[in-house]
Amino acid sequence: MSVQHDAVQRADFDQFMVPNYAPAAFVPVRGQGSRVWDQSGRELIDFAGGIAVNVLGHCHPALVSALTEQAGRLWHISNVFTNEPALRLGRKLVEATFAERVFFCNSGAEANEACFKLARRVAHDRFGPQKYEIIAATNSFHGRTLFTVNVGGQPKYSDGFGPKIEGITHVPYNDLEALKAAISDKTCAVVLEPIQGEGGVLPADQTYLQGVRELCDAHNALLVFDEVQTGMGRTGELFAYMHYGVVPDVLSSAKSLGGGFPIAAMLTTAALASHFTPGTHGTTYGGNPLACAVGEAVLDIVNTPELLSGVKARHQAFRTRLEALGQQYGLFDQVRGLGLLLGCVLNDAWKGKAKQVLDAAAAEGVMVLQAGPDVVRFAPSLVVEPADIEEGLARFERALNKLTAA
Ligand SMILES: *Cc1c(COP(=O)(O)O)cnc(C)c1O
Repeated sequence: MSVQHDAVQRADFDQFMVPNYAPAAFVPVRGQGSRVWDQSGRELIDFAGGIAVNVLGHCHPALVSALTEQAGRLWHISNVFTNEPALRLGRKLVEATFAERVFFCNSGAEANEACFKLARRVAHDRFGPQKYEIIAATNSFHGRTLFTVNVGGQPKYSDGFGPKIEGITHVPYNDLEALKAAISDKTCAVVLEPIQGEGGVLPADQTYLQGVRELCDAHNALLVFDEVQTGMGRTGELFAYMHYGVVPDVLSSAKSLGGGFPIAAMLTTAALASHFTPGTHGTTYGGNPLACAVGEAVLDIVNTPELLSGVKARHQAFRTRLEALGQQYGLFDQVRGLGLLLGCVLNDAWKGKAKQVLDAAAAEGVMVLQAGPDVVRFAPSLVVEPADIEEGLARFERALNKLTAA
């Protein structure tokens, strides 16, 4: 590697960056499809997808062309004006989902922030100031702003930042009786991930989501689905609520929506949206033309029967092989999740060691994720090539082999 005066390396992270992350020892510099290369030229297979973001892999030609074409036209104009890419993407999201109105923003946390504020505003307008309680699930994840860490309810993310936001309670996931006991006419919203992502790739039960829908209706509470991780084809349907056939009132989307370009959205009905009158909420970059041009290209490709059925076929390829590897090496015997959001639940002997598995995998040339300390997570591109699945899982097997031989 030639040394340049402006060359940077991993060690610079510790010198210049706020230490809230602990990045890997290597620095990726280039990606193509489901392969990534680091500074030394080493090639890795990417089953992490930038944490369920790179929905069409790296540098997909349609996304590169949407981005560069828009880059030569109009980058940013603010919400003092609307713009064509935002209007096109908004219309397509409405046509493809339960939603009638769309609010664009820049990250999952921001989309959830909009969902929670809308729920509180609707309840305030319709029923009065006493209806503001939000019920969420234990061990959920909704982002890192103060409101979203409080709703997420994982003390490791929410403690030590001053007073908590009031009116948020947590109930165990997939436990309808617990929700029944907690919900009341003071509840303005119930917030759930259809599959808990960061919490361990834990899917909701069908009867649970149906029951939650009924409880929300009985108490005039909005049902908010956080589909930041599960949306945009990840589960083999455009959104996970379609898999369950349980329709929320408000839904957040981010991650895969931009395929790697920052964009997020809150989707809702016209009646609920009407409570966000001009001036009640906003964000400078929301609906940015570059982001929306990319989002439109992502949606055009993802929301097709071919792509979505391809996700289900790839799911089966991963699951069959992972279950066999689990049996052979004894690290895990449960593989769960939908579509291309899969979690291998570590056995008692390996509990707490997901990071160790992830590091071993990276050492063999395959990037995977953890979902908490006990689950190894896979969130690859939805168009990952069968040959890359094959080769990536062979590398993963080598990692398991080394770990268990050690
Ligand atoms: C990643 C994630 C978020 C937060 O998204 P950011 O873009 O990091 O703010 C929120 N909810 C879920 C379910 C997520 O997976």
